[in-house]
Order: sequence, then structure tokens, then C-alpha cells
Amino acid sequence: MTLIDTHCHLYMSPLDADPTAVQARAAARGVTELIIPAYDQPSWDLMTPFESDPSLHTAYGIHPWLAHESPPGGNFGGITTSLADRLDATSAVAIGEIGLDTKIDTSDLTQQMPLLEAQLQLAVDRDLPVILHCRGAFEEMLSAIENHGGRLRGVLHAWSRGPDLGERFIRAGLHLGLGGSITRPTAKRPRKSALRLPLERLLLETDAPGIGLHNVPAVETEPHHVADVAAALVTIRHEPLFRLAAATTANARELFRLSAPQGESP
Ligand SMILES: [Zn+2]
Repeated sequence: MTLIDTHCHLYMSPLDADPTAVQARAAARGVTELIIPAYDQPSWDLMTPFESDPSLHTAYGIHPWLAHESPPGGNFGGITTSLADRLDATSAVAIGEIGLDTKIDTSDLTQQMPLLEAQLQLAVDRDLPVILHCRGAFEEMLSAIENHGGRLRGVLHAWSRGPDLGERFIRAGLHLGLGGSITRPTAKRPRKSALRLPLERLLLETDAPGIGLHNVPAVETEPHHVADVAAALVTIRHEPLFRLAAATTANARELFRLSAPQGESP
């Protein structure tokens, strides 16, 4: 069995203290590959050691939490140029983490939307998937995606909402990332999504060290916990682990265009 953590921040504390040990603990539970999105220019620089490891896949973007540092007047030429340069210089598999967030007080959607738009356009131009963060602005996010008329692909990560909204993002061309929330017995909406949404559009992730699981605080979350997310999906969907693991891993390989390592069993 092979699982992929499609969203973790290996360069963040405490994971950064010993990333090799984190990878080993993940591999011991079948989590053999990680997708690591960086969210601002300082974090981009922390990704360099990961670029040479074939089991680690990098993504680069500017997070909405950094939108207040964006240039006044919305001229994002400089940011997108440096992002394009970074994509050229690396083996990035996606643009992310980018998005919209109305639950922060450092910026609002008038600042965040141009930053998102510039990066979505770059993703279309480069034919790269996007890794999206969204809190409180799902309609605005949906419109931003639909504006690209089906030419955008990517994942809305840490999906925490119900299946009706999820279905709309899937119709717009996205995958949804299921994480720690589906391990919580009381989390009705994401568990309903995990049950009802089409398996071919679901990915597994931890967002380590950002989001906890049932009985695991965020700070203790590691990529190996993707195995617990997969186990929760087994309980919710009543389907065998080998099938759910194979399907979600294949989804990740297809979306991020990852080549399967030699000898991997399906
Ligand atoms: Zn994240």
C-alpha cells in the first residue's frame, strides 16, 4: 500500500528539526511521498533541500496571509515574475499554497483577490495545478476558478464543508483534500463529503503541523497521520483500505503528474 500526503509543511517547526526522521516514520506507515507547499518567499528558500529527494514534491506560491505585503495598487508583476523564476529553477509540481481567507484581519478580499488571480493565471499559463486554501470565501473562490473556463485544475485543501458545496468545486474541475477533520466523529459535514463525493476527486492530506486529528493536537501532526485519515475513510465509506489507498494515490499522481516509482504495487 502506498499513500501520499498531498499537503504538509515539512520546513515548519517542529517537523523541520529532523525531516528525515519524519519521512521515515511516514514511510513506516506506507506514506512514501509528500507534497510540500511553500507559502511565501522566505519559506520558498527553505525548500531547497527537498528538491533533490524524489519522494518529496514541492509547490510554490504566496498565501493570502501574506496579501498585506503585496504591492499597493495591485501590481503583481514582481511577485509573479519571482514565482515564475522559482518554478523555472525547481521541479515544482504545483502552484500553492494560495487562496482566500476572510477570517484574518491583516487583509481583505480586495487585497487577496488580485494576488490569487495573478497566481491562477500563472497556473493556467504553466499548465500546473493549484493548491488552494479557502476560509469564508467559497463563492468568491468558485467564481475565480470558473473565470478560467475549465482550464484550471488543482485541489481545494483541508476540505471541511459538506458535499453539496464540494460537488460544485468538483464540477469546476477541482479535487478536494480530506484531512484530519474526517477523523473527528463529530465533524458531520466533512464526513458526509467523504462519503458522498466521487472517490476519483478525493486526495488525502495532513496539513502537518497545522491541523490536528481526533485525539492528536495540531503540533503533533506528522505526514504519517495520513494513514489515520485513510483509516477514517475506510470507516466512513465501508470500502477496503487497499482500494481507497490505491485510488487516492492514483488521483494524486494524475493531478500532480507524479511518476510512479519502479515496482510500486497498485
Ligand atoms: Zn497548508
